[in-house]
Amino acid sequence: MREDSTATTEILVVDDDATTRARLKKLLDRNGYRTELAEDGACAWSLLARKHFSLILTDWAMPNVDGLTLCRRIRDADYPDYTYIILLTGHTDKSEVERGLDAGADDYITKPFDSGELLARVRVGVRILALQRQMSEQKRKLEELASLDGLTGVLNRRALETRLNEAYSLARRRNYPISVAMLDLDRFKFVNDTYGHQAGDVVLQETARRIKDVTRDYDSIGRFGGEEFLVILVDASQEAARAIAERIRRRISDEPMCFEGRRIPVTTSIGVAASHGHQRSVHNLVALADASLYDAKRAGRNRVIVGSVDASDDPEAQSTVKTLDRTARAG
Ligand code: GH3
Ligand code: MG
Ligand code: MG
Repeated sequence: MREDSTATTEILVVDDDATTRARLKKLLDRNGYRTELAEDGACAWSLLARKHFSLILTDWAMPNVDGLTLCRRIRDADYPDYTYIILLTGHTDKSEVERGLDAGADDYITKPFDSGELLARVRVGVRILALQRQMSEQKRKLEELASLDGLTGVLNRRALETRLNEAYSLARRRNYPISVAMLDLDRFKFVNDTYGHQAGDVVLQETARRIKDVTRDYDSIGRFGGEEFLVILVDASQEAARAIAERIRRRISDEPMCFEGRRIPVTTSIGVAASHGHQRSVHNLVALADASLYDAKRAGRNRVIVGSVDASDDPEAQSTVKTLDRTARAG
């Protein structure tokens, strides 16, 4: 691991003294690190605006921006990736060292420095950076896991809502349409009752897979409830969304699903709603898709219905949305 980390660690060396800079560069280069040089804190700071360095070796006393100020600026900048800072200092006074560490330095070396000790301290930094990277990767994985539905691997309800709000805001800002398709498997209770709950679970997993098959990578799929899925269709007009929903419906019903050698025919009803600009709020968008899904169930199931009026345009539809009883669909 150390070999790898060494190769990937690029070190920024900041010192106003040309001889020290050259000596540090030679030492670090010889030991497999890549280095870049800056003549003082100000040069380092402008370099950092363009490029991230995970490890910085900086002198303390420099004209313009000194090492201490550089430390403080880096900590205030709060970069997404950690910067490990080693301060090179002529100060041996304990209270000065304390001041350096308090300004945000991770370690310090007093000048004149010993090459062996300097390299050892750099290795400590590389080790800590590797640990820190591992931790952020684990955190990212955990966050990803926390946003997924355990059974089907699509977004869970909470993550779906967050994603929907983000996608909706972006669509409005960029002025492109956004659509949602709300799906509910038909007579799913019958699947559970006939083939068993485990078969029902497999059907849900296969449904998620099939929706993924026929949607684009940048669309989002989430499990809205038990056997209900919501698909967020980015940059899809009402007509485009209808076509995609129809493709989903066909992909699910055209070929029966399989569980332990038994073939299970599955169909789904889908309600679609679209919005462009200020046409409808995100709440009304989902409510309209939901109301349309209800209409699809009432009209005989295994079909797509696109909603065209809702609370914002039609007072009659408003009552449909308001009185929408999700359990009524079962009937
Ligand atoms: P409709 O066509 O009106 O939608 O009828 P339905 O039977 O699909 O509707 P209903 O809402 O009555 O039944 C939904 C069923 O979905 C009931 C519930 O047991 C089942 N269900 C919900 N979540 C899961 C799950 O995670 N796994 C399994 N196997 N079944 C689930
Ligand atoms: Mg159902
Ligand atoms: Mg349902």
